[in-house]
Amino acid sequence: MKEIHQRRLVMVPAPFEGHIPSMMNLASYLSSQGFSISIVQTQFNFKDLSPNFPDLNFFTINDGLSESDLKSLGLLEFILRLNSVCEPLLKEFLTIHDDVDFIIYDEFVYFPRRVAEDLNLPKMVFSASSAATSISRCVLMDNQAKGLLPPQEARSQLEEMVPEFHPFRFKDLPVTAYGSMERLMILYENVSNRSPSSGIIHNSSNCLESSFISSAQEKWRVPVYPVGPLHMFNSAGSCPSLYDEEKNCLEWLEKQETNSAIYISMGSLAMTQEIEALEMAMGLVQSNQPFLWVIRPGSIIGQESLDFLPEQFRQTVAEGRGFVVKWAPQKEVLRHRAVGGFWNHCGWNSCLESISSGVPMICMPYSGDQRVNARLMSHVWRTAIEIEGELERGIVEKAVMRLIVDHEGVEMRTRAIGLKEEVEASVRIGGSSYSSLNSLIHRIMSLTSSRSSLSKNIK
Ligand code: UDP
Repeated sequence: MKEIHQRRLVMVPAPFEGHIPSMMNLASYLSSQGFSISIVQTQFNFKDLSPNFPDLNFFTINDGLSESDLKSLGLLEFILRLNSVCEPLLKEFLTIHDDVDFIIYDEFVYFPRRVAEDLNLPKMVFSASSAATSISRCVLMDNQAKGLLPPQEARSQLEEMVPEFHPFRFKDLPVTAYGSMERLMILYENVSNRSPSSGIIHNSSNCLESSFISSAQEKWRVPVYPVGPLHMFNSAGSCPSLYDEEKNCLEWLEKQETNSAIYISMGSLAMTQEIEALEMAMGLVQSNQPFLWVIRPGSIIGQESLDFLPEQFRQTVAEGRGFVVKWAPQKEVLRHRAVGGFWNHCGWNSCLESISSGVPMICMPYSGDQRVNARLMSHVWRTAIEIEGELERGIVEKAVMRLIVDHEGVEMRTRAIGLKEEVEASVRIGGSSYSSLNSLIHRIMSLTSSRSSLSKNIK
C-alpha cells in the first residue's frame, strides 16, 4: 500500500478570486497531512501562487483565453468555453503525469470530470459555495424544466415561496446577470453533475446548514464533506490578493468607536451603476456613522474616477468620518472591534468571513448564489437585513441606522456572535468541520490505496 506522502493529488481551482483561496486553503491542509499536491491552474487569470505555497507543485495549462475573451463573451459563456477548451489539455497533462492518484476540482471548472472518468481516476467535486446553493440550482433547473418559473419581469409572482423550498422565494433562486437562462441551464447541468464522483467537499459547516448538507447527500448519494470555513484552519500559506490591500484603513478604524463603523464591499466581480454609487454615497453621509467603503477600480459602470461623487461626500471623507479604499484587508477589517456592520453583495466567502467575525450584515445580492446566501443570512440565521428594489439614499441611511444603532441591530449582532462561536467550535479538534476533514482524508486514502496496482485505462 502507498504511504500518504506517495499519494499524488491534483487539484484544479476555478480561476476566480472568490474560488481560489478556499481551494488553496484545502490544498495547504492536505499537504500538511502528508499528501503530495499538484495545483493545475489555467493560463487565464494566472497568478503565481508558488511563493505563498512552497510545499505545493504548480502546473499551468495553456487555454489561450484572455481577459478580452471574458469581456466579449460575458462570464457565463466564458466559463462554458473555458471548460471545453481545457478538457483535452488536462487529458494530455494527465497522460504525461501518469502517477496521479486522485483529482479534486472546483464545481465551476468541471472539465476534469470526464477526463478522470476516461483515465479511471477517482475524483471529488469541490464547492466554494454553500450546500443550499447546490440544492437551489437543482430547484431552479427543475422549476424551469416544468415551466413553473415566473418570468423575471413578473415581480409579484417572484415574491412567492418556492414550493417545498422554505424560506426561499422564486426571486432568491440563483439566476444570473451574466447570460441567458438557456445557457445558464447548460452550465448548471454540468456543475450539478456529481453522482459519478466519490464525494462532494463544501466550504461550509454542519453548524450552518446541516439540513441542506443532508439534502445534498440524499440527492447525489455520495458522501458530503462540510469542511469550512476553510480560512479558519491554520494553513501554511495564504493567497496573494487581487489588488494591493490598503492597510492604512486599519489605522483609520483604530480611531473609531467600538461597533460604530459600517464596512462596505461588493467583492471582486460585482459592478455598480453610477446612480447606485451616488445614492450609497449620500446615504452614508446622511447616516452620520463612520464608514469604510471599498470601491474597486473600474467597478462603477462608466466611471473611471470618483470625481462624480458629490462635494458633501468628499467633505465627509476629508473630515475623517469616511474612508475609501480600492481594496481592503477584508478579514482583518471584519475582525476589528470598530466594525459594527458589513454591507455586502453576499458572495459566499464574504458571508463566511462575516460569520466567523460575528459581524451582522446588510445584504444587497446581485447575481447567482448571492441571492441564496442573502436569504440564508436574513431568514435562516437572522444576522442580516436584506435590501430589495432600487437603492435610494434614504434606504441606505435607514439600513445603516437599523444595523448599527437600533435595538434590531444589537439583536442581530448577538445572534452573529453566537454563530461565530458555533463556527469556531466546528473547526476545533473534535468539531464537525475538523472531523469532516479527517473523514475526507480517510476517504481519499481508501480510494487511492489500491491505485498503485491499477493500470490506468485510457479510453
Ligand atoms: N476581498 C478583499 N478585499 C476587498 C474586497 C474583497 O480581500 O476589499 C476578498 C474577500 O475577503 C473575499 C473575496 O475577496 O474573500 C470575495 O469573495 P466573495 O465570495 O465574497 O465574492 P466574489 O468576489 O466571488 O463575488
